[in-house]
Amino acid sequence: LNWNEHNYPINYCDSQEYWVDISEDTPYPGLDCESGPVRQLSMTIFVYRDNDGVEWLINETSIDTGIELINSVYSPYGIAFVLDEIIWVDEAYPELEDGFGDQISLSELGDGFIEGYNQSNVNIVMQSTGWGAYSMFPWYTREYYFSTVRASTFATSYVPSHELGHFLGLYHTHQFHDDPNSDSDLAQAFTWTQDWITPTEQCYRTGDFICSTPYDCYIWCEEVINCTANAYESDRPDQEPSEFANCTLEQHNPSRTNLMSRYGDRSEISFDQGARARYFIQYMSENKREGNLLQYSEMEIDY
Ligand SMILES: [Zn+2]
Repeated sequence: LNWNEHNYPINYCDSQEYWVDISEDTPYPGLDCESGPVRQLSMTIFVYRDNDGVEWLINETSIDTGIELINSVYSPYGIAFVLDEIIWVDEAYPELEDGFGDQISLSELGDGFIEGYNQSNVNIVMQSTGWGAYSMFPWYTREYYFSTVRASTFATSYVPSHELGHFLGLYHTHQFHDDPNSDSDLAQAFTWTQDWITPTEQCYRTGDFICSTPYDCYIWCEEVINCTANAYESDRPDQEPSEFANCTLEQHNPSRTNLMSRYGDRSEISFDQGARARYFIQYMSENKREGNLLQYSEMEIDY
């Protein structure tokens, strides 16, 4: 390691460089930095009782373990989550009525959620089994931004980190996969790109707007690149066999471990996804959205 006169490694960036500055060549902040000041985001976590109204859906130990897992994904990119408050909503979590994977509505979450909601924090709702986990992109204007996760696997699953990825502005790796040779998908994603620059590199203008993630058409490759993806057989054994030949690795070799994919091994984000998440943390901290303004505390790393 090389050290400068401030006893930091040479490519330790300051707050402006790591969190704010962007250009056509470096469309997300800190792409040239190895590290920089850490921003800590506070979490408000809502815990209801089970569907029968008896046991709490999760205890404090499992919440702490789950937050540690989330931090293991994000801390290499200067992003840290810390528990601010647990809101114990002394009511049964709503029973799932329509079917597996449904999204819960604000009205079903009730007054306990509305009253405990924190406009400066990252709000997480612990759910009973069966409900779909989901989150909200930062660029759609709404009154309540929250992420829902399954309580029973919060301590061990990467799905909560995935949902927080959406909260921090990360798309799925298969976003805008329809046209692999597209010159720009910025027009399709106009709600946030209006405030952005036009990146020099094509891979920052298309798909998931991330260069380090390979092209991913997930289960829709047949219509787009005329082959059937490996994902079909290994990840979806229940699918009908395809008329198309299997995609070669040259045609389709997505990252199976990327957190923002839909593959089973998703568990990590890349340096430029980390930089994009920093961009949207900065965005949420300086743009008031229906009263929401994300707060953070910034800490220098003590080497
Ligand atoms: Zn997702």
